[in-house]
Amino acid sequence: MRRKSQGLTSIFYIMLGIVIAISGMVLSPQTFDSMLQWRLLGGLGLSRFNPGSEKMHRVPGPIDLVKLYPDTVVRQWSPATPSVAITFDDGPDDEYTPKILDILRDHGVRATFFLIGSSAEKHPEVVKRIVAEGHAIGNHTYHHVNLANMAPWQVVMELKKANTALSRITNHWPLAVRPPYGAMDPLAVEAVAKEGYKVVLWTVDSLDWRGLPKAKVLDNVIPELKSGVIVLHHSAGGPEEDLSGMLEALPTIIKTLQQKGYSFLTVPEVIEQFDAERKAAAREGALPAPP
Ligand SMILES: [Zn+2]
Repeated sequence: MRRKSQGLTSIFYIMLGIVIAISGMVLSPQTFDSMLQWRLLGGLGLSRFNPGSEKMHRVPGPIDLVKLYPDTVVRQWSPATPSVAITFDDGPDDEYTPKILDILRDHGVRATFFLIGSSAEKHPEVVKRIVAEGHAIGNHTYHHVNLANMAPWQVVMELKKANTALSRITNHWPLAVRPPYGAMDPLAVEAVAKEGYKVVLWTVDSLDWRGLPKAKVLDNVIPELKSGVIVLHHSAGGPEEDLSGMLEALPTIIKTLQQKGYSFLTVPEVIEQFDAERKAAAREGALPAPP
């Protein structure tokens, strides 16, 4: 009798362990992954989450996601009238983001901010200001993780966590995702497409995160400007990242475009035109129909 109850107790503890493990997996994929990376597990340890600055991880993606998923991954579009989309990653903060907002307001220009969920929770007033001044918000993950190193289900949960944080502040659920470092596994792209997201990359990279001076930022951006490009800047950085060159270059970039009669679209507006483009092309038989 005693042996039987000991057996039941063991089963209870094993079940409890399984329940705790599954809850941990669901509630905090990052913690769960850290557990998997314990040295005790030796070769079983998995390396997935790589938080860090742009400098540590930015490498060109070997797979052309736009070609693989032309209805989900947006890098540029074909507007009917001269238009560009200006985007800022990695915010919000209380240093650069407010200064960028001042410049955009002074020039009457709207842009899109791909925000990090955990940073949004630290600076909700900046997030509210972005929305109040007519700009759009996109999802740049909750922890600024390298999505290419994560399983598709983890990517979906990471984006959901970021959107939950953003929607608590703005009452809006962004559907535009900018993966940190532009990195994403094809299977994860398929998974997020099913959730209704678009993966928004960029056409023109200012490389401002390298702490470039104004002249270099202008060199990287001005010659590349044409209708339908998406321009990438940053609105916050790591402790060693200096974006002051970008701040000085931004008014010149905006004025150059305004003098040529360009419109400044937000990313949701770009996606609307992009979807219409894809549907029209599919009707003409030029492209496979979007799913
Ligand atoms: Zn980033």
